[in-house]
Amino acid sequence: MEISRNGTRPSLTPSADWFTGTVRQDPLFSVAPPARTAGVLVTFEPGARTNWHTHPLGQVLIVTAGLGRAQREGGPVEEIRPGDVIRFAPGERHWHGAAPDVAMSHIAVHEALDGVSVDWAEAVSEVDYRGG
Ligand code: MN
Repeated sequence: MEISRNGTRPSLTPSADWFTGTVRQDPLFSVAPPARTAGVLVTFEPGARTNWHTHPLGQVLIVTAGLGRAQREGGPVEEIRPGDVIRFAPGERHWHGAAPDVAMSHIAVHEALDGVSVDWAEAVSEVDYRGG
């Protein structure tokens, strides 16, 4: 058994190459082979969001605070709220982030395939973010 105490895991600022706006990542647990699951608490300030991306083995988001948005390619922009659990299939192109005027936090859980848990693409345009 291992207990990782709250307050011992430094907060991270992800690369601006893959996010729009202000985002903070608080790591929860990392990949420990042979297991390949990792978890991170991500907080998006109002208007902030990921770039378009895919996860080779999919991803689960558990919204913990605020009001957010998520979209899979070809689908509508969906509002996401605390307690909502969102699953993206392996390879499904999508983005997630805060609402325009309200911050959002979610726990993200994903698995790594050959050390890769995300494949990044272009930023989400303002038109796409606003729902077209
Ligand atoms: Mn994702």
